[in-house]
Amino acid sequence: MPTNPDPLVFIVSGPSGSGKSTLVQSILELPNTLLAISCTTRTPRQTESGGKWYNFVSEAEFERMKQAGEFLEYAQVFGKNWYGTPRRWLDEARTTGKNLVLEIDVQGARQVKQNLPAAVAIFIVPPSRAEVEKRIRSRGQDSDDEIARRLQRAGQELEQYTGYDFIVINDDRDRAAKEVQSIVLAARCEMKRNEDRVKEILKSFGG
Ligand code: ADP
Ligand code: 5GP
Repeated sequence: MPTNPDPLVFIVSGPSGSGKSTLVQSILELPNTLLAISCTTRTPRQTESGGKWYNFVSEAEFERMKQAGEFLEYAQVFGKNWYGTPRRWLDEARTTGKNLVLEIDVQGARQVKQNLPAAVAIFIVPPSRAEVEKRIRSRGQDSDDEIARRLQRAGQELEQYTGYDFIVINDDRDRAAKEVQSIVLAARCEMKRNEDRVKEILKSFGG
C-alpha cells in the first residue's frame, strides 16, 4: 500500500446552493480522490441515507467525538446543527495515497487552513442571490424557514472569500466543473509535491 506522509487536501466551501455538492462530484470523477464523509446532528432528508454524504449521529455522540479530539474541524452551521470532519479521513488518505476532498462550511474551512496550511481551499460563488434562491427551491429539500435562513447566511459567507486560494464562479455548470478539476490537477503538479520524483528521475541521468 502506498504511504503518503502528507496527503493533498482540497477544501470545497461556499454558501448553500452555490453548487458545492455538484462540483465535488466533478472532483470525485478524477482518479485518486476520496470524499471525507462528515458527521452531522442534522436529521436525514428523505433522499439521504447514512454513510454516503453524512454519518448521522446524535448530539451526545457528536459531543463525545468533539471531547475525544476526533474531529479535524467542526462547526455549528446556520446556528442550528453540528457538522464535523473526522480526522480518520486524513489517515485514510495517507494510507491509500489519495487526495482528500472536504465539503465544509466557511467556519470549518478556516479551521482546516489553520491546522493544515498546505490544504487547497476552493470557494464556490453563485452568480446571484436570485439564482441561489432558485436553486435551493428547485432542490426541493428545505422548508421556507430553512431557505430564508440559508439565504441570509449566504451573503455573510460570501464576504469570507478572501481566505481562499481559488474562486470558482458557478454560473455555467460545465465550465465550473472543468475549473474545479483543473485546480485539482494543477495542485498535483506543484513543484513541492513532485520534488522526490524529479530527484529519482535525475538519478537516472547520473545526477
Ligand atoms: P450546495 O451543495 O452548495 O448546497 P448543490 O450542489 O446541492 O449546492 O446545488 C444546488 C442546486 O443547484 C442543485 O439542484 C444543483 O443541481 C443545482 N446547480 C448546481 N450548479 C448549477 C449550475 N451551474 N446551474 C444551474 N443549477 C445548478
Ligand atoms: P446541508 O445541511 O445542506 O447538507 O449542509 C449545510 C452546510 O454544512 C453546508 O455549507 C455544508 O458544506 C456544511 N458542512 C457539511 N459537512 C460539514 C463538515 O463536516 N464540517 C463543516 N464545518 N461544515 C460542513
